[in-house]
Amino acid sequence: MKRFPLSLLILVLVGMVCQAPAGASANPAPAEVELLLAGGRVLDGAGNDWVYRDIGISGDRIVYLGNARLDGVEAGETVDVSGLLLTPGFWDMHSHGNLSSEYGRQAIHKLYQGITTIITGVDGGGNHDMANLYERYESRGIAVNVARFVGHNRIRRAVMGRDDRAPTDGEMEQMKAMVRQAMEEGSIGLSTGLFYVPGTYATTDEVVELNKVNAEYGGVYDTHDRDLGAAYQSVGFDASVKEAIEIGERAGTPVIFSHYNPQGAHNYGRGPDAAALIEDARARGVNVMAAHHPYTATHSNLASYTIPDWARDGGQEAMVRRFDDPETAAKLDGQTAEMLAIRGGAEKLRFTTTRDGLNGRTLAEVAAEWELTAPQAVRRILRDGNAGVMNLDLYDAWNTRYLARRDWMMTCTDGGMPDGDGVVHPRSYGAFTKKLRRFAMDEGVITLPFAVRGMTSLAAAFLGFERHGLIKEGFYADIAVFNLDEIEDLATYEDPHQQSKGTVHVIINGRFAFRDGSPTGELPGRPLRRGLR
Ligand SMILES: [Zn+2]
Repeated sequence: MKRFPLSLLILVLVGMVCQAPAGASANPAPAEVELLLAGGRVLDGAGNDWVYRDIGISGDRIVYLGNARLDGVEAGETVDVSGLLLTPGFWDMHSHGNLSSEYGRQAIHKLYQGITTIITGVDGGGNHDMANLYERYESRGIAVNVARFVGHNRIRRAVMGRDDRAPTDGEMEQMKAMVRQAMEEGSIGLSTGLFYVPGTYATTDEVVELNKVNAEYGGVYDTHDRDLGAAYQSVGFDASVKEAIEIGERAGTPVIFSHYNPQGAHNYGRGPDAAALIEDARARGVNVMAAHHPYTATHSNLASYTIPDWARDGGQEAMVRRFDDPETAAKLDGQTAEMLAIRGGAEKLRFTTTRDGLNGRTLAEVAAEWELTAPQAVRRILRDGNAGVMNLDLYDAWNTRYLARRDWMMTCTDGGMPDGDGVVHPRSYGAFTKKLRRFAMDEGVITLPFAVRGMTSLAAAFLGFERHGLIKEGFYADIAVFNLDEIEDLATYEDPHQQSKGTVHVIINGRFAFRDGSPTGELPGRPLRRGLR
């Protein structure tokens, strides 16, 4: 191809624009731009490199992309974002945020990371009464968008309690009706927590049956699968992943793995095996994806990590009665010791509960102070109820980086509400900024456009939200604006209550939820109902 002198090209282009009939230019000025973000570098979220674009917003939509000065765009308000990076708002694909609480609905720790949409009802925890919940969100206001799963554990407990048995036909019908109601009311799909009681009592077939109702509505299947690698006397990581894929394949739904990363020192270095399990299914045509966060610690609760299912059957009172029987307690302590070994030992379990004498300390420290063995200390703590706990070093940092490079990997905080002074998992404050700063910018594990794609368009498209996740005309104006030099997570395991740095503005549905480095107090978020937008 002959090379075209640049000056000639410009002349030709200018000529074309001048000759074009009114309104037919490449970037016609829209009738009305209320807000113009001018002079910034735009990563569109599709994985492309950044380009200079001014972004025009009207109402809740992006209505203009281009060079506003050249196109003669006039705006109600112009905000200079030169020197800054603009991306679609981030999707937190696995969040334990509770938008019903005053603290939760402001979602401040999410905004500091550029998150504009959170996915809740995960790990099997979402209730089926979606319409009421969403109406409450709409009437009281929420800072970020939310899309939600109906949860298998939640409906199974409502119908069958904590019983370790198969459902009767009548119970199965009841559970299906609950899934159906949630789907009718806008749920994005079904979530399970087959690792947790009572989901763990369900067979593969039970979940397939329920997931078929989900499939009728075009929902996705979200799995905290049976054995992330550190479950006790369970099926093992590989079989667990295969089970979840089977559930999606037989029912006819896409599958997304929550916090995908093989757990335990015995799985260190197995990132490629974990990736292959998903890639083999994708090669067969199954739509399987995953989300993860960049930390090596998990966070859950002491009972789930240290007490075998049989000892918890029937609930708290039944469990404490077993503690009181010396023979049963001795058997239990032996199994708790085995469970602790899988998790790296009592020194790897760090409490995140404000209960007296526990917060921020390890199980090993607490047991030593009480002059008990670790299993004895576990029983003493659980007599007064369950306790939040982190499991340090359960994920391999190398695996996490390997998996971050897969083109089906999204990002999540997996984070709860970090309110109060107690020690919390830093992921609530820094999962997205840590991935950007460390994996993309400092280490070059992934490129910035690739990282942003996994946090935005990949998630929105997977969930079927066709007008979200990209900076594109006609799309919802969910936009994060960063100072690239300053992006950084500050929260640590030792000092977790620190907001991320580098986020300048966050716009949600066309309104500033976060401006000039601070939350505005506005509540522009909305429930995103599947298929209804
Ligand atoms: Zn989970």
